[in-house]
Amino acid sequence: MSNSELSSKYETVIGLEVHIQLKTNRKVFAPENFTFGSPPNQHVSPVSMAHPGALPSPNLKCIEHIVKLGLAIGCEIAPNSYFARKNYFYPDLPKGYQLSQDTLPVVGEGEMDIYVDGKVKKSIQIERIHLEEDAGKSIHDIHPSQSLIDLNRAGVGLAELVTKPDLRSAQEAGAFLAEIRRIVRYLQISDGNMEEGSLRCDANVSVMPKGSDTYGTRVEIKNINSISQVIKAITYESGRQMKAVDRGEALVQETRTWDVSKGKTAPMRDKETADDYRYFPEPDLQPIKISEAKIEEIKAEIPRLPQSRFLQYVEEYKIAKNEAQTLADQREFSDYFEALIPFTDSPKTAANWVLGPVRTWLNEHNKDISKFPIKEKKLGDLSQLVKSGKVNLNAAKEIIFPRLCENPKENPETIAQENDLIMESAENELQDAMEALIEKFPAEVKKYRGGKKNLAGFFVGQLMRQFKGKANPKEVNEVVRKLLDS
Ligand code: ADP
Ligand code: MG
Repeated sequence: MSNSELSSKYETVIGLEVHIQLKTNRKVFAPENFTFGSPPNQHVSPVSMAHPGALPSPNLKCIEHIVKLGLAIGCEIAPNSYFARKNYFYPDLPKGYQLSQDTLPVVGEGEMDIYVDGKVKKSIQIERIHLEEDAGKSIHDIHPSQSLIDLNRAGVGLAELVTKPDLRSAQEAGAFLAEIRRIVRYLQISDGNMEEGSLRCDANVSVMPKGSDTYGTRVEIKNINSISQVIKAITYESGRQMKAVDRGEALVQETRTWDVSKGKTAPMRDKETADDYRYFPEPDLQPIKISEAKIEEIKAEIPRLPQSRFLQYVEEYKIAKNEAQTLADQREFSDYFEALIPFTDSPKTAANWVLGPVRTWLNEHNKDISKFPIKEKKLGDLSQLVKSGKVNLNAAKEIIFPRLCENPKENPETIAQENDLIMESAENELQDAMEALIEKFPAEVKKYRGGKKNLAGFFVGQLMRQFKGKANPKEVNEVVRKLLDS
């Protein structure tokens, strides 16, 4: 059976477990900080190495971050929650247990909207978001016969967000992750960088006959490190399961790894169950209590989120969806766009400037908007010069804009004057010039009047050349036709 036949017969069910590395100045229970890419074992302390007698001390910033995320998504916040030990033995986990949360996480249930392909809206139930510490890293590919351990990452604070099995396609899973990444970046609680591991995702995948209400056996896929790979891994795995189920084979619940180079998932281990971890409350840490006042304080710090901005740009400003998406994608970029609007004649004009010359400049200089030199008001002044017909758009983009980027203190109109770019909009000047041309090219005039209407372009070209791009093309066209047709 072909893939498309299979996917018309079966449905894919996906639940995601997303790990978000929290950006703070120290690990979640240990005093030292961690930066990606440091030499191994530079960011360790007796706490993260689990020396006897070393005690954890919670980083309250991590708790605030996770509450902020929960509030932004619209989840319940637990006024009381506690830490638990999740016991397992692995060389990169010195304590022999991970500090995590079990039955009572800081953030409880909620619901988040996603837009698949920027279009179809879907609500995804969130099961929980809990706080936990990261493990270190085992490195198997440096030494020929030994595994090496790097504990830099051990103890770094993570938010683990778990969805209900509500996603129904690889594309929906991709859209969900992209939304989470946008939100954590807006909230400035994480870099959200999948390549550097500050955003990681395990995908639980199962298949069932279309229309069924009983989920199939699920497989958990680990080690996926970009959104495009998440989409590929889920697509591969659901195809594999559909084929197996269609042949009548029983699937086993297991953990599989995603092999990027082969483009396949492969068995890793049998799935642990909660019992295997022997969770129990952490005796060295107090329960987490969060007051109403604290929740209000954190709520007040949440900026307007990308989805609400996106919807406003599309619905109110009538900006195309893909452009609205680009504008809303990054908080600082979107802030700049919004601040520019009042200085221009319309949100569309502001969007054109930001998505055009501004974005091109940022790409060429490999900078983000926080390093963009022109203040909103000044760029607004430039756009108004164009709007009022004093300068043509091309001259504004190609000559004045780059000059402003180099000398952001200069005045756009002064630059226009210095470069002789102020348009001679006086209609009679154009008319005089056109009358002279009519005398100069009688044969062309005759042909035009005899029906060769495209000769108007010849006169427009002559005039534009004469006025060296300072004339407004629309006005030139009008004058040419008016005089030729009279
Ligand atoms: P565990 O405790 O074993 O980790 P959970 O119930 O916490 O299992 O579920 C982990 C993830 O697996 C969640 O994201 C959940 O939505 C997802 N999940 C559960 N059942 C299925 C299923 N049948 N198919 C796909 N995903 C599932
Ligand atoms: Mg789980």
